[in-house]
Amino acid sequence: MREKTIFERIVAGELPCNKVLEDNDFLAFHDIHPRAPIHILAIPKKHFKDFQEFDPELMAKMTLFIQKLAVLLGLDKSGYRLISNCGKNSGQEVFHLHFHILGGFELPKDKAEQANPQALF
Ligand code: 5GP
Repeated sequence: MREKTIFERIVAGELPCNKVLEDNDFLAFHDIHPRAPIHILAIPKKHFKDFQEFDPELMAKMTLFIQKLAVLLGLDKSGYRLISNCGKNSGQEVFHLHFHILGGFELPKDKAEQANPQALF
């Protein structure tokens, strides 16, 4: 049987988290290694390995959840970055779908965004 991911163990109450918002379907908590003054992870309680496997109907609900979270944190006004690493090449480490919500300062442009795809060929 597949071993539970850290985030499934958090949902099950087997591991602690610093919770910010929760409803029946989703949970949001502080990232253990924050890379911005505000760095929150939002996850569905149901297991999906990554974004590629996610249920579009649940994604619609998750959109509302993340928007509500942004208002709660005051990020709706100042802005934020929303990231979901998906699969090996993205550097995904925890294989339970999650969105990073980063904010609280002017975020530097990511190097990957500046990469020139032409240079790869
Ligand atoms: P990924 O690289 O998979 O997109 O991001 C995984 C994130 O989970 C990382 O930012 C990492 O700091 C965070 N993380 C890993 N283990 C834990 C944990 O036990 N608790 C919390 N709150 N965050 C974790």
